[in-house]
Amino acid sequence: MKIAVLPGDGIGTEIVAEAIKVLQVLDLPLEMESALVGGAAYEAHGHPLPESTLKLAMDSDAVLFGAVGDWKYDKLDRPLRPEQAILGLRKNMGLFANFRPAICYAQLVDASSLKPELIAGLDILIIRELTGDIYFGQPRGRRIATDGHFPGAEEAFDTMRYSRPEIERIAHVAFQAAQKRSKRVTSVDKNNVLETSQLWKDVLVEIGQQYTDVALDHMLVDNAAMQLVKAPKKFDVLVTGNMFGDILSDEASMLTGSIGMLPSASLNSKGQGLYEPSHGSAPDIAGKGIANPLATILSAAMMLRFSLNQEAAAQRIEAAVQKVLQQGLRTADIYSEGTTKVSTVEMGDAVVKALI
Ligand code: NAD
Repeated sequence: MKIAVLPGDGIGTEIVAEAIKVLQVLDLPLEMESALVGGAAYEAHGHPLPESTLKLAMDSDAVLFGAVGDWKYDKLDRPLRPEQAILGLRKNMGLFANFRPAICYAQLVDASSLKPELIAGLDILIIRELTGDIYFGQPRGRRIATDGHFPGAEEAFDTMRYSRPEIERIAHVAFQAAQKRSKRVTSVDKNNVLETSQLWKDVLVEIGQQYTDVALDHMLVDNAAMQLVKAPKKFDVLVTGNMFGDILSDEASMLTGSIGMLPSASLNSKGQGLYEPSHGSAPDIAGKGIANPLATILSAAMMLRFSLNQEAAAQRIEAAVQKVLQQGLRTADIYSEGTTKVSTVEMGDAVVKALI
């Protein structure tokens, strides 16, 4: 089982080191090889995703990714910015399905900005299509308008676009994920306004007929944004396009209190995947040893489950994380009175100890 380890920038190196410590005590035949990515790769090789890093990722069963980015790269040309590395990996590896669970751990129920009764026991899964939609549709660009409200003025435009096969494959992923959970899928779109969304909805209905054990409902994206803060537990599996998913998955992640707790997985049709915390490189706390490594450790658990077929090991890690929370150990982002504040390394050590 070959894993490409790409720690990246900022807190990426600190949190990935803890996840590796955890993987190493599992006694599995894991072959891990590290490479530079993001700003670190730009500094060393002049490109955020060097050929050698891409090759390592493509040749591996899974990629364990930290985070990339720093404000100091904001002035670089867009293709050289650290964040382009993620887009390059997604595109080259064909990672079209993004899984973002939002789970509220009982011990952290007070960390949420919502009332405890609204989120206690929350366990939802957002599945976002990752390679289509307005982020990639052509044509896009800037020009001088020849019509519209302001002819002669500069305008910019993007194209929202989905093809039937793109929607079909993410629909299958969502229905199959729901079969392993509570057998409900909510498809989110904006079909009252957008043609793309109408096709999305039509295809979801069609594919849904192949999954008679799963109940499908549809919700407009504006309503979904409201319902996520009003009654998030009503959802189970939520499937949506790239842009709506980008926004809703961030909203859902904050329901649980800390972005430092939330893992994510991006999969292709071969089961290869890229696993990373939902958060970024947090330059504001990088190097201070206070970042929460649990999102990355839980991403490693998802990697074992989805790409390496090691369900038992995944569950062991998740149980170990529950145990350290139960013991009252907290990094600064989830600390509250009466608990014990620990560093990034201490948190990783505690998870390792809970595993052996
Ligand atoms: P961020 O997620 O890095 O940080 C947002 C806030 O959350 C910060 O206050 C940070 O300290 C805190 N935070 C994040 N992760 C934490 C953790 N594990 N433990 C404790 N606190 C944590 O988002 P941002 O500040 O908007 O972006 C910083 C950089 O990260 C930017 O360059 C951005 O482009 C990049 N980014 C990268 C990814 C990625 O690599 N997938 C995702 C999002 C943002």
